[in-house]
Amino acid sequence: MELLKPPLCRIDSIHSTQVKLENFQDFSIVKSTASDISTMLSADISLCNDCRDEMNDKSNRRYNYPFINCTNCGPRYTIIENLPYDRDKTSMKNFEMCSECIEEYADPSNRRYHAQPISCFKCGPKLSLISLDGKVQRDEKKAIKIICSLIKNAESVGIKGVGGFHIVCDATDEKAVRNLRLNKHRPTKPLAVMFKNISMIKKNCLLSKADEKLILSPERPIVVVSKKADSTLAKSIAPNIEKIGVFLPYTPLHELLLKELKRPIVATSANISDEPIIRDAEVLLKKMPLVVQNILTQDREILNACDDSVVLNVADEKIMIRMARGYAPQSFFVKEKIQKKILALGAHQKSTITLAFDNNIVVSPHIGDLSSIDAFEYFTRTLDTLKRVYQFEPDIIVCDKHPNYETTKWAKKYCLENKNILLLQVQHHYAHALACMAEYSLDEEVLAFCFDGTGYGDDNKLWGGEVFVASKYNYIRVYNFKEIPLLGGEKAVKEPKRVALSLLFECFTLDEIFQMDCAIFDLYSESEIRTLYRMFQRGINTPRTSSLGRLFDGVYALSGHLEDLGYEGESGFILESLSSFSKTTATYKYSLENGIIDYKPMICQILQEKDKAKIARKFISTIGKIIIEIANEYPNLPVVLSGGVFQNRVLVAQVTKELKKIDRKYYIQSKTPVNDGGVSLGQAYFAMNKKDS
Ligand code: ZN
Ligand code: ZN
Ligand code: FE
Repeated sequence: MELLKPPLCRIDSIHSTQVKLENFQDFSIVKSTASDISTMLSADISLCNDCRDEMNDKSNRRYNYPFINCTNCGPRYTIIENLPYDRDKTSMKNFEMCSECIEEYADPSNRRYHAQPISCFKCGPKLSLISLDGKVQRDEKKAIKIICSLIKNAESVGIKGVGGFHIVCDATDEKAVRNLRLNKHRPTKPLAVMFKNISMIKKNCLLSKADEKLILSPERPIVVVSKKADSTLAKSIAPNIEKIGVFLPYTPLHELLLKELKRPIVATSANISDEPIIRDAEVLLKKMPLVVQNILTQDREILNACDDSVVLNVADEKIMIRMARGYAPQSFFVKEKIQKKILALGAHQKSTITLAFDNNIVVSPHIGDLSSIDAFEYFTRTLDTLKRVYQFEPDIIVCDKHPNYETTKWAKKYCLENKNILLLQVQHHYAHALACMAEYSLDEEVLAFCFDGTGYGDDNKLWGGEVFVASKYNYIRVYNFKEIPLLGGEKAVKEPKRVALSLLFECFTLDEIFQMDCAIFDLYSESEIRTLYRMFQRGINTPRTSSLGRLFDGVYALSGHLEDLGYEGESGFILESLSSFSKTTATYKYSLENGIIDYKPMICQILQEKDKAKIARKFISTIGKIIIEIANEYPNLPVVLSGGVFQNRVLVAQVTKELKKIDRKYYIQSKTPVNDGGVSLGQAYFAMNKKDS
């Protein structure tokens, strides 16, 4: 049945009950009371077409109004202090509605009927431009003009968005982008670009129909698409990568700026490396004085910070890379009532929090890596918001098994102080598989490929290239990649050349190695190699990992990329990009024996190969072939693909195509992140299904 419903409404379930016919005299919407917490927190939604039309209409009283919104669009999660969602429980409570806004708010026939953030020039938030030297420009028109001229003059500036600040510069100006990178200490990680409209994106990028649909969707995520060779964007926006993250303006303020600028802008989250997005102008000026000296801000407080979401399409299926603005908090309706209140804390990188209670699972927006104090503060702030809003106190807390994750430490301490709370720990990669099972409410046993960076394994080693036969209750590890020794531990994660050396040590004798002609030996003297070899032999500071992410790093370095990584996952992105330059369908040799996926034959072959693109292509195809071969060993189980490696478009496209060909059912997350952002959901799903908990 096709239902006519408001644009932002989602129907979770329909119930019907027979009632006696009665004659009512009138109809009214009754004010919500604090006990009605049945409403879910909604995500912020981009400017709707009606509001856009109004802000472009000279005769409208909100012509060019930077905070226009209605019931179909505007901020939600980022301004909410508490539920039920009423103005006095949002950061709009400080703005008293003018008589015209009150009229619209109270009129059931108006699009702004009960739109909580309703406002206008008279009564709403105000823009201002603040500078590092203490100057403040309060004339809104002048503030916009000045900020635009700074951008045109190759400067980077701060701009307040819905969930935090962006650092913005001219995306067509190589010098501006390079300066931003230099000052932000962000050498290579790709920067997102905001375009005025879809046709401007099409001039610079190749879009599939699915890409276009996602870019235009009301969630307005950053969509990773292919860059055109003749694009006018600065090369340093995404060095060495053919892909680029693009998005459209999602607030009225962005629309105004791009109308004035007439050129695409870099719009990257204002933060220091992987720290949370900054939501306060003073903090931004204090933390990044070299990057921005001028900020366009406004006086509506951001109560809950929220980054931009990042998605990509593979064979027309959406893959979530970062779930945040527009999508999160993401709530799932579950048919069977959850008996206990469950709080799942996720992993350490790309952290998210999941709550499960009654018939709901709620996944928080992306929080980020929890390595800094600020990041952990953001984590506890998000947790406090969710607990307050849903009046939630956990009966069960679920965390990772890694003893050094901040979340594990926090969970253990919390449970020690609150003895009535049950603590559960779930293996990292099993949680990845469970996240996918949760998204699709899978009940049956599955064959789960959890290909990832590193996570703590049940044998106290680092896992990350795992194949499980898994159910909601438990799992068996049926395959894993042959372990790679990580020379220097954590250091090896940033230095792929160390992983390459480890692979050589693992596969050859020292004599054999010295006879090889390999670029990596230009970086080390013979005595250095001997020292590292002794380290490897004795296992000193050389933890072993079955991580496929690390194998990507090793192959990346063996194919001649010897520089250190600028950001997590860079090797995978570059190999993916390179692979598109080779058309070969060949693969490398490997062996599957006693539950071990042995890469040694492949390493031998890679050493003979010179063409980087060919190595990339053959390596990715080989991983795909391994998946299909193992899947064929378990013909009756549906396949689950989860973990950070499945952000690789080439791999996912190949594997899903092959799985379709053999008519195998498969699942890959679409609404929640396949990377560590999904771990909290998987952890919650485990606790929900745990018997007698
Ligand atoms: Zn609207
Ligand atoms: Zn007003
Ligand atoms: Fe992971």
